[in-house]
Amino acid sequence: MAFEYAPAPESRSIVDIKPSYGLFVDGEFVDGRGTSFKTINPATEETLAEVAEASEADVDLAVRAARRAFRGWSRMSGKERAKYLFRIARIIQERGRELAVLESIDNGKPIKESRDVDVPVVAAHFFYYAGWADKLEYAGLGPNPQPLGVAGQVIPWNFPLLMLAWKVAPALACGNTVVLKPAETTPLTALLFAEICQQADLPPGVVNIVTGASSTGQALVSHPDIDKVAFTGSTEVGKAIARAVAGTDKKVTLELGGKAANIVFDDAPIDQAVEGIVSGIFFNQGHVCCAGSRLLVQESVADEVMAKLKRRMGTLRVGDPLDKNTDIGAINSREQLDRIRELSEVGESEGAERWSPACDLPTSGFWFPPTVFTGVTQAHRIAREEVFGPVLSVLTFRTPAEAVEKANNTPYGLSAGVWTEKGSRILHMASQLRAGVVWANTFNKFDPASPFGGYKESGYGREGGRQGLAAYLKGAQG
Ligand code: NAP
Ligand code: MG
Repeated sequence: MAFEYAPAPESRSIVDIKPSYGLFVDGEFVDGRGTSFKTINPATEETLAEVAEASEADVDLAVRAARRAFRGWSRMSGKERAKYLFRIARIIQERGRELAVLESIDNGKPIKESRDVDVPVVAAHFFYYAGWADKLEYAGLGPNPQPLGVAGQVIPWNFPLLMLAWKVAPALACGNTVVLKPAETTPLTALLFAEICQQADLPPGVVNIVTGASSTGQALVSHPDIDKVAFTGSTEVGKAIARAVAGTDKKVTLELGGKAANIVFDDAPIDQAVEGIVSGIFFNQGHVCCAGSRLLVQESVADEVMAKLKRRMGTLRVGDPLDKNTDIGAINSREQLDRIRELSEVGESEGAERWSPACDLPTSGFWFPPTVFTGVTQAHRIAREEVFGPVLSVLTFRTPAEAVEKANNTPYGLSAGVWTEKGSRILHMASQLRAGVVWANTFNKFDPASPFGGYKESGYGREGGRQGLAAYLKGAQG
């Protein structure tokens, strides 16, 4: 039985959401020439602000501003560029509470995650790449590394500020300038970041933010004067972007979807593994590209793991993202909720067994209870397709070879998890799994020094670490 907790809401008075926002171009907020759209709080469906939708002409102005700024920024010494990045990192820390509250309001994620994961990792990324800015020639990427030019960056809604940091920090450290398009449902923290760039006295045009929907993204990636496209999002859109830039000399990195296997062997510390299964799939409502959405559990411990997992799921608190006790917040949009519902219904109709703990969901806003499917086979759609929600599919295996085969039986290859007491087994599995990151006895851990990226339909190129610099330097692989 779960304890009852009194509500412990974080105050939202720290954020000042304006009724409307323009675009951030050449160091200033400007009115867009296109229309505008609303961003809402997915936990209440309340409209938060009107945001400008950048037209093709607006995107062109932003790219021109970035091109003008590139001259000075790329010639500035790495040591000077680092000062700006360190300053931005420190302001992010200073304004951390504000950023976390705003992220939770616009996105729906629990405040304990935005406060303890997103924002600290964002600051860490800026600190990390600030440290590289004056050491690029020691990165092993050639004797005289040169920036590419202007980067067009398009990011999704699941980690709005973190995906911005993954893209902006390495680009700037290497001497590039950027035009970034945040997702339509989560533009607000990118706009607050624009304010932080002003506060840090970043030279105008080095960072430009163009809000909008898919047509703004299309205008950006197909703009003839950008040198680099960095995209994080769905595999479908990633493929469209790859087609849009084919035949140009734009450099491209794509961070796409995933369907990770989280593999629990019979010698694993079961209680720890259960915690890892829970954070693997229920962290950020399961809106995580590297989520451990396929649990592969060794048959001999499957009953024990399932019993403990269900008991643990019964203690998860779903509700108000700003409540400090909340484990699972709101689903980011009605569209995403519909997709989760649809795939879950398919799971049932294809014969898997669905289970959720009893939980009261709020009446307004978008919510989905933590859900687990057992009796899943590899042919089921819930085992093959990304649900991108708090939905776990459970499969069993008998031998390590069978675990490897099932884990790799996916068009994706972004991440995987291995739970076992044997170090040799960890190393063996890591060498066999076709996944960009393999976690051992942990899951969903992010560190700026560690490269992240996919195999197969999960994309190409790496973000983070020394490897993440390669994506923004001439001649380097990445
Ligand atoms: P999405 O539909 O692909 O959208 C991603 C971004 O691309 C959004 O800003 C979107 O704008 C924009 N966009 C849409 N169509 C475009 C086009 N034709 N040209 C240029 N830009 C376009 O993905 P999503 O549903 O927001 O995000 C979820 C997906 O992202 C999942 O598949 C997840 O696995 C993946 N993801 C991957 C990683 C990783 O690092 N590998 C990290 C996080 C998420 P709108 O917002 O206006 O649609
Ligand atoms: Mg929103």
